[in-house]
Amino acid sequence: MTDKLIRGRLISFKRAPLSLTDTESYAYEHDGALLVADGRIAAFGDYAAVRSRAPEGIEEIDHRPHLILPGFIDMHLHFPQMQVIASYAANLLEWLNTYTFPEECRFVETDHAARIATHFYDELIRHGTTTAVAYCSVHKTSADAFFAEALKRGMCMVGGKVMMDRNAPQGLLDTPEMGYDETRAVIAEWHGKGRNHVAITPRFAITSTPAQMRAAQALAEEFPDLHIQTHLSENHDEIRYTLELYPQAKDYTDVYAHYGLLGPKTLLGHAIHLSEREADALSEAGAVAVHCPTSNLFLGSGLFPMKALMRREKPVRVAVATDIGGGSSYSMLRTMDEAYKIQQLLGERLNPLESFYLMTRGNAEALSMVGDIGTLEPGTTADLIVLDAAATPAMKLRMETVKTLPEELFLLQTMGDDRAVIETYVAGNAMKTAL
Ligand SMILES: [Zn+2]
Repeated sequence: MTDKLIRGRLISFKRAPLSLTDTESYAYEHDGALLVADGRIAAFGDYAAVRSRAPEGIEEIDHRPHLILPGFIDMHLHFPQMQVIASYAANLLEWLNTYTFPEECRFVETDHAARIATHFYDELIRHGTTTAVAYCSVHKTSADAFFAEALKRGMCMVGGKVMMDRNAPQGLLDTPEMGYDETRAVIAEWHGKGRNHVAITPRFAITSTPAQMRAAQALAEEFPDLHIQTHLSENHDEIRYTLELYPQAKDYTDVYAHYGLLGPKTLLGHAIHLSEREADALSEAGAVAVHCPTSNLFLGSGLFPMKALMRREKPVRVAVATDIGGGSSYSMLRTMDEAYKIQQLLGERLNPLESFYLMTRGNAEALSMVGDIGTLEPGTTADLIVLDAAATPAMKLRMETVKTLPEELFLLQTMGDDRAVIETYVAGNAMKTAL
């Protein structure tokens, strides 16, 4: 039984905050409680009020004075790159060819894929990430390991077998037919099983022939409810090479649009160097640009104009992610610290309410899954995290001078990491302390 009363300071966003003083954008309970029944949130509110509705003798867990939030959502990372993170490379293409592609070849082996999957989910839980959108490798074995482990832990995960049929080592190539057939097999075996969601996953235009793009298009037409994930406009050399490979395309975005891969369930990793026409095309399609700040800085890819894209006349939907292993931290707190700095360099402000909205409800909206994850609203699954803004001696000292909730959130984002995550609940089950 997962029925329990979880007490603490609750914060859950109702919509995107418009400013640092936009208190209407979130619900906050200083002495709050969540009633969790059958893995779902049954009630949210003031402790005394929720307590009075709870059955006699219910288990009570007191997390005061810590904050309780919806679990973080990571919108883009690579499950087979846990042993690629922290690889010394000059840029994206060198990093891919020297480190990433050889490492991903190992995921043809079932035992290796299963071992890394265990570590992958341990790391997500340790960092307070309860849902992630991941690339597996080209091998079906990697997708099987990824989804089997998610099922075991009851986690809501999105993932896909990568489709790639050129410009990579032989051990990492499928064919248009294989990519199609194996993606279909992964969908049949895993989509809708537990909380698993399969995404159609052509890696990016450079590693897929036009024939494979047509295969991805066929999958998208057959399974219109599925997410599509790929990479877009991360690096100038990548953009140039893409346009050599697709000379007919107006620009990089047009490659995906041409094959019917641009829609409201499309998640485009990076999308840093978009033209106005491309930003319009994303906006009109409702496609999501997924910002991966630690990766963009680590690989020197560029500064993503997040705020500028959001306030366009035709706004672009934006989400945030770690991009392990191009990214340098599993922590969404570290991720938003770097996102903040990138906006600073662009002369923009990213306030802490927006950051915490993006990591939770914002990403859930970008996934079209806000009915299940991303908030503490009754009816949603009890995927929660407990954060301590005084988790380290330096944070504790700084907390002495913190007076407001936004200040506390900003401290968590600026100084926090996995040490600030006291507990991670998945469907009402405490997972972090159980690791
Ligand atoms: Zn990526």
